[in-house]
Amino acid sequence: MKVVVLGAGIIGVTSAYQLAKAGHEVTVIDRQQGPALETSFANAGEVSFGYCSPWAAPGIPMKAIKWLFMHHAPLILRPKVDGAMLSWLVKMLSNCTSERYAINKSRMLRLADYSRISLAELRKETGIAYDERMQGTLQLFRTQAQLDASAKDVKALAADGIPYEVLDPDGCVGVEPALRHVRGKIVGGLLTPKDETGDCFKFTNALAAKAIELGVKFQYGTMIKGLDVEGSQVRGVMTNLGRVDADAIVVALGSYSPLLLKPLDISLSVYPVKGYSLTIPITDASRAPESTVMDETYKIAITRLGDRIRVGGMAEISGYTNDLGLARRRTLEHSVTDLFPGGDVAKASFWSGLRPMTPDGTPVIGPTKIKGLFLNTGHGTLGWTMSSGSARVISDLVSGRKPDIDATDLAISRYA
Ligand SMILES: Cc1cc2nc3c(=O)[nH]c(=O)nc-3n(C[C@H](O)[C@H](O)[C@H](O)COP(=O)(O)OP(=O)(O)OC[C@H]3O[C@@H](n4cnc5c(N)ncnc54)[C@H](O)[C@@H]3O)c2cc1C
Repeated sequence: MKVVVLGAGIIGVTSAYQLAKAGHEVTVIDRQQGPALETSFANAGEVSFGYCSPWAAPGIPMKAIKWLFMHHAPLILRPKVDGAMLSWLVKMLSNCTSERYAINKSRMLRLADYSRISLAELRKETGIAYDERMQGTLQLFRTQAQLDASAKDVKALAADGIPYEVLDPDGCVGVEPALRHVRGKIVGGLLTPKDETGDCFKFTNALAAKAIELGVKFQYGTMIKGLDVEGSQVRGVMTNLGRVDADAIVVALGSYSPLLLKPLDISLSVYPVKGYSLTIPITDASRAPESTVMDETYKIAITRLGDRIRVGGMAEISGYTNDLGLARRRTLEHSVTDLFPGGDVAKASFWSGLRPMTPDGTPVIGPTKIKGLFLNTGHGTLGWTMSSGSARVISDLVSGRKPDIDATDLAISRYA
């Protein structure tokens, strides 16, 4: 089958690789000049299978109000006259109940666990390297209140059978030796030892090269304008460089996916939630992290990627803009230098990306009402983590096979 994948981010490239392995003739189209040049470029580098839960959770509305007014705020809201933003916010708030949270989290965990297995297999079969490490995520608490509040996370991890360790300050230093310099600032930590880290940009590029070996064609520098649908069957893609024929299409355009689908009367609630990162060259490895440390105070992830520290976080709801604000840079600098001053912050590169967020945190993977048109998008905060499993699910569905995990409640039909 001729399958066209729209988007060459982590989701599009992993999908293309699996589709090629399944024997399809695959073309990937992207407006950029290479893979992973938008949201998959400089994310926080966590591959956190255990730390996988929706942002929409009980208690979040009250916490959000507090976060909005914090110095070094983890949440920034720039309200505007935007129906999509308003509708997404309302839907997100309606997912903040215990019942919805439990359903959404179980879907995410199912996909994350499948991704853990799929990524390990992918690593083995391709041998690609991406500054990967397998040393877990340490959630770091600076106050007793944070440590106390983590009791419900511990309960959830235990219920889901995910390995974890509750650590005192010495235990945290044992896992992340550089924290010995700031031991006095730490009250405790929660370690999910099965989590991994790695550079999503390096991984996507290396996998794209493997996909080319399997025969995948990449058409870069091409703006996707619309879809050609005949009756209820998709037939091709319209681009600024002409039409591309397709028997099946996988939409993996991240935050831009809903814009393509709107003219087809497919309402996909994915909204861009902007985040920022700094990539800092390490000058003193003894003061750098070994893996990922989640600073619970600022909701910022600090990750070791080879000879660099990647620090990423913040959620800014401000529409489709990648503007870089100095205040956001200061927040990242503050969080990282406070714990791991082992890098040259002046030489750091500053970046922003748009997380393609669904209101329920779960990506949208599966068919649409149009025959041959499939979605693999809306991976929000954890697209790198969930990419490998999502790719196998979509490849199976396009190929008419039953996926290894239940995928019925991952499709857009769950919103019907
Ligand atoms: C600050 C930050 C930190 C993060 N940290 C983590 C983390 O630690 N772990 C984790 O798992 N996830 C993390 N994420 C989330 C993760 O990065 C995303 O979920 C993931 O990158 C989304 O991948 P994607 O392929 O769907 O989107 P993208 O990477 O944005 O790919 C979409 C592609 O579509 C193309 N495109 C869009 N519209 C068009 C068009 N009209 N024509 C042609 N091409 C088009 C774009 O050029 C782009 O290449 C983080 C995100 C941010 C912003």
